[in-house]
Amino acid sequence: MKEVLSGNEAIARGAWEAGVRYAAAYPGTPSTEILENIGTRYRDDIYSQWSPNEKVALETAVGASIAGVRALAAMKHVGVNVAADPLFTASYTGVRGGLVLVCADDPNLHSSQNEQDNRNYAKFAKIPLVEPSDSQEAKEFLKIAFEISEQFDTPVLFRTTTRISHSKSIVALGDRADLPRPDHMERDVKKYTMLPAYARPKHPKIEERLQNLRAYGATSPLNRVEMGDRSVGIVASGIAYQYAKEALPNASFLKLGLTYPIPDDLVREFASQVDQLIVVEELDPFLEEQIRLLGIEVAHGKDWFPITGELSPEMVAERLTGQAFDHQPAAEGLPVRPPVLCPGCSHRGVFTVLRKLKVYVSGDIGCYTLGALPPFEALHACLCMGGSITMAHGISKAMGEVTDRKDKTVAVIGDSTFFHSGVTGLMDMIWNGGHSVVMIQDNRITAMTGGQVTPGIGKTLMGADSPAIDIEKLVVTLGVKPENVRVVSAYDLKEIETVLKEELDKPEPSVVITKDPCVLQYRVKNTPMRVDPEACTACGVCLRTSCIALGMVGEGDAKHAEIDPNFCTGCTVCAQVCKFDAIRPQE
Ligand code: SF4
Ligand code: SF4
Repeated sequence: MKEVLSGNEAIARGAWEAGVRYAAAYPGTPSTEILENIGTRYRDDIYSQWSPNEKVALETAVGASIAGVRALAAMKHVGVNVAADPLFTASYTGVRGGLVLVCADDPNLHSSQNEQDNRNYAKFAKIPLVEPSDSQEAKEFLKIAFEISEQFDTPVLFRTTTRISHSKSIVALGDRADLPRPDHMERDVKKYTMLPAYARPKHPKIEERLQNLRAYGATSPLNRVEMGDRSVGIVASGIAYQYAKEALPNASFLKLGLTYPIPDDLVREFASQVDQLIVVEELDPFLEEQIRLLGIEVAHGKDWFPITGELSPEMVAERLTGQAFDHQPAAEGLPVRPPVLCPGCSHRGVFTVLRKLKVYVSGDIGCYTLGALPPFEALHACLCMGGSITMAHGISKAMGEVTDRKDKTVAVIGDSTFFHSGVTGLMDMIWNGGHSVVMIQDNRITAMTGGQVTPGIGKTLMGADSPAIDIEKLVVTLGVKPENVRVVSAYDLKEIETVLKEELDKPEPSVVITKDPCVLQYRVKNTPMRVDPEACTACGVCLRTSCIALGMVGEGDAKHAEIDPNFCTGCTVCAQVCKFDAIRPQE
């Protein structure tokens, strides 16, 4: 049977066919749909869970592997930074059941804070790296990755990019491997306890493992030679292979699926059969450097293909054929659509007030990062998941005692991000005598990645009921004084302002929680608002709430604001900023 699947759907299928019994992830574009599919389509055979962060997801997968089942952890590229600690030591412990870490990179930063090339993690952690080029390979290669993991006693890094994760192609489906569940817990202290005495002898074994993997690469089904015109030999992997093959279908190709360690004998043999070698790859010169280190001449690599951003089929074709590609000019006159908070979003009121108070706002990863853009411009820094609280603490310590309220720092963070790694930051602030205000914008969901549940929801990925972690009680337990924990309505601008001012004036940590849910996920819709054209002075203040339901219509004296009732959720934020009482609920 065949199905059209995205790369992420194919990876989920591959996990099922590989006999995987455990899967964990933290959602992150472009990796999110892997666990969503496992948690829905394959829930009868695979236990799956969202974890509060990527380190936790990988550590639990390591535990499942030690228990003897095949286990998968999935995350986006920056998530591997969070999971790097267990990953590097899992390289030392090795596995019992196969262990694969799926990492989805995001060249060109479609939805990320940086553009790192995670192939480097394989080299750094000294583990094999597998890269599929389409959905069929995503499924098949994942199964081989589990075999490699068990055969070579190592975690495997399975790396995709946005184009592989989200593109759809035909996939031939297979059956699930019938792997028995282990009936006892094997104890092997020396293998799984990385005391220095047990870890030290592992390093030479890992170097030996890499040599064995190098040799395995020469005959692995993951790598293949496609001989054609011998004047050009192209080495490529992943989506770069598809682009190059489309541009020069008759050239010779060394198509690599096991890209670390590179199969040196295979590369040497291929290079000896072609006149010139060209390496086509996105981002870093990962393959090119490995090939050059073998003493093999590379005619073209990063001198032709950029080190930043995504490759495109046109760009690759232009370089490889030397012919200018006939670009279709982009349509002109289309409206510019910068990303904005949804109409009725529970973050809108908060940023309206923060802008008014002129405080320094240390932001985090989530929808609320849009508070940095005009017209709000009320978020001034954003580093990484959980970084808002720790940065705010660092800023406040560096600034010392400040008396002017506007020189104080507010950290804004969402509920999912707070559970991810904000908790430890708040712990740090309390422990080390910080005095910033932390705003936890609890919209009851991981909104930016499409609405995944969080530990605060009371539901698991698989739909089971579970105890909901209470943020108010948690922060009090961490050490925030109960009187400094304030819960406010995200839509009551006066209340937010009053409470923020009170907490900013305190010389100790405070937590302000807004608890209104994501309008998109919870389908919140009240009576839409309307503008009274007679009362409206066209001052434009309401437009500064950046709601796409609002616009200005008419000319001259007839100019006035207008609300599109189809978009408006009746959140009232715009009405609260209108000094002329021109915005009221529709009758
Ligand atoms: S804030 Fe009020 S008066 Fe000003 S444009 Fe908007 S609706 Fe009109
Ligand atoms: S009430 Fe105002 S801010 Fe809220 S959704 Fe409607 S138009 Fe947008």
